[in-house]
Amino acid sequence: MKIGFIGLGNMGGPMAANLARAGHDVAGFDLSAPMPDGVTKAASAAVAASRAEVVITMLPNGAILRSVADEVIPAMDQGGVLCDCSTVDVDSARAVAGKAAAAGLGSLDAPVSGGIGGAEAGTLTFMVGGSPASFAKVEPLFQIMGAKAVHCGDAGAGQSAKICNNMILGVTMIATCEAFALADRLGLDRGKMFDVVSTSSGSSWSMNTYCPAPGVGPKSPADNDYKPGFAAELMLKDLNLSQDAAESSGADTPMGRLARDLYATFVEREDGRGRDFSAMLPRFAAKNEG
Ligand code: NAD
Repeated sequence: MKIGFIGLGNMGGPMAANLARAGHDVAGFDLSAPMPDGVTKAASAAVAASRAEVVITMLPNGAILRSVADEVIPAMDQGGVLCDCSTVDVDSARAVAGKAAAAGLGSLDAPVSGGIGGAEAGTLTFMVGGSPASFAKVEPLFQIMGAKAVHCGDAGAGQSAKICNNMILGVTMIATCEAFALADRLGLDRGKMFDVVSTSSGSSWSMNTYCPAPGVGPKSPADNDYKPGFAAELMLKDLNLSQDAAESSGADTPMGRLARDLYATFVEREDGRGRDFSAMLPRFAAKNEG
């Protein structure tokens, strides 16, 4: 298949490389990132998109997606599908879908879970919004870049699923970190705490798979001095998206708001920038010492 791939950073680079390795004809464009192996460099986003049956974007935010879509949509042939895999606001996803439809194109919002490791290994999970026909066309590519693709509903449904998932993740990570810091104060061994909670009703992905305590549970960024992994500022980005969506849809999300405020403090006023989002544990522990 002829594919245009725009945004070849930490995530897009390995995703595009996996498509090229599987034998697809991939033309790539990025403002600064190098071309991955097997991907042909295009002179612009529009050139990467011209004659592509599917154009995939993996970009930092909704404003950039909207401007790239304005360049790409007129360059695509009728019947092509524009598939955005970035994490962006639901309104931008729906706006781009509307413009694509007006130009006779299909479109999908297909954000991912699984991080850079999942992008490299081709084990991402895609959460997808858009028409069944567009989903069917791009599904073989999701199978190359990922292990699972869930068709969640119409345009915007993929981004909705993503921000709800990550709101739960932010809240459970904070709860796990503050509980470890409380256990410290109570003199409870962290390993014993993990043994109990990981098999009890307090278990979660944050505890069981991505334990924020170094030397406890499976290997995680805590064992690598909290180098990301999933950076605290990316978690803050996603919690801002979920709060914006909560406000615009009238949903009451007090825990999501508190998690957003704590990550904002951590990233903007403390030492969270550039650290993994699980570094909330040393933050709480230091506060308890102070
Ligand atoms: P990144 O900053 O490494 O990559 C973004 C790329 O987009 C950069 O290479 C940049 O040069 C390029 N770019 C920016 N504006 C452009 C333009 N106008 N035209 C062409 N290229 C342009 O970011 P990333 O970590 O790859 O994340 C990409 C998206 O994936 C984000 O929306 C992020 O929230 C989401 N995401 C990231 C992770 C993760 O663990 N890194 C996990 C899940 C989802």
